[in-house]
Amino acid sequence: MKLGLIGVGQAGGKLVDALVAYEANSRAEFIADAVAINSAEADLLGLERVPKDHRVLIGQTRVKGQGAGADNELGAELVQADIEEVMAAVDEIPVHELDGFLVAAGLGGGTGSGGAPAIARELGRRYTEPVYGLGALPGQDEGRIYALNAARSIRTFVREADNLLLVDNDGWRKQGASVESEYERFNTDIARRVGILFSAGEGATGTVAESVVDASEIRNTLGTGGVTTIGYATSHIDRPQGGLLSRLSGSKPEPSDTQNQITSTVRLATQGRLTLPCEIASTERALVVVAGPPAYLDRKGAERSRKWLEEATATVEVRGGDYPVPDSEYIAAVVVLSGVSNAPRIERLKQTAVETQRSMRDGSDDFADVSSSGDGDMEPLF
Ligand code: GDP
Repeated sequence: MKLGLIGVGQAGGKLVDALVAYEANSRAEFIADAVAINSAEADLLGLERVPKDHRVLIGQTRVKGQGAGADNELGAELVQADIEEVMAAVDEIPVHELDGFLVAAGLGGGTGSGGAPAIARELGRRYTEPVYGLGALPGQDEGRIYALNAARSIRTFVREADNLLLVDNDGWRKQGASVESEYERFNTDIARRVGILFSAGEGATGTVAESVVDASEIRNTLGTGGVTTIGYATSHIDRPQGGLLSRLSGSKPEPSDTQNQITSTVRLATQGRLTLPCEIASTERALVVVAGPPAYLDRKGAERSRKWLEEATATVEVRGGDYPVPDSEYIAAVVVLSGVSNAPRIERLKQTAVETQRSMRDGSDDFADVSSSGDGDMEPLF
């Protein structure tokens, strides 16, 4: 599925950079073009992969290239005021080649948190292609304002995008590691998951998938509305078939071995670390992509994993396909759980947001009363 990528704010730009890097190192092509939007000049300059003439500095008269701080209302206003410049950059993307847009941002900050939903809204108005969001949730140690920003951004982004893929920065923290190196590792991991999902239908050059995941299947899985989480796991192949010996002898892997390996990798991907931890039984639709050397992509194994996923997610809407990667020594599985409704992390964010908003209105800093929180009085950004 060919995407137009739009990174908004610092994290958004870096996530798009990581996706472009993933594509450059893999054999598939799923990116039609990439654009970065920011009100902070230094962050735009720091990008490595997004072409220089595809970087748009917005809000210059108001914030003079200094960014929006952690003010996401300002972030939304800056994008809205310069929306024609943003859309002029989007128009450079060969839109006839596109199957959809992916708008990426960190949801705890200012420019991306406010600006990404505003861009999603404008894309939805101007184009018929679906618009997906990719949002990074702030770590719990980043404080209440970041939580409030993220909760309001999610509320607005979910309304404006066809689907919001969420990734929780907290899940990737390792004790002692610097935040910068953590982000890099995290962005690379996210890019791999998102990259395998969207390149599944595009196929690696020179290979043919047995069971193709085409753009319409990805679109139907993501649907129109809701939140998505992505799981990923790999398992090493003990006796890879790409070697000279196995080619000479014409030996094939045992079907029962490959079937077991596929199903256990899919289970690991589903039950391991999801980009947004959630109750998997609250999934509405799912998609599983199994990648590996063609001789290992066993149809029965894929069917069995789909059946297992149907039971685990309690949904019959489970799609699947494979993604041949010749000469790989691994089986990899990406599991997409779409329309999830029970994610404790989002509930906690909302609760913190409501308390923060209330105390800001009252001018008090008393967070003791959490009993009456709900998201009824939490305002969207626009
Ligand atoms: P903006 O430039 O005003 O949109 O603000 P940022 O993009 O810096 O957003 C801040 C939020 O994004 C915080 O919650 C950070 O934890 C998170 N963040 C910053 N950089 C990265 C990154 O490279 N990757 C990820 N996943 N999150 C990031």
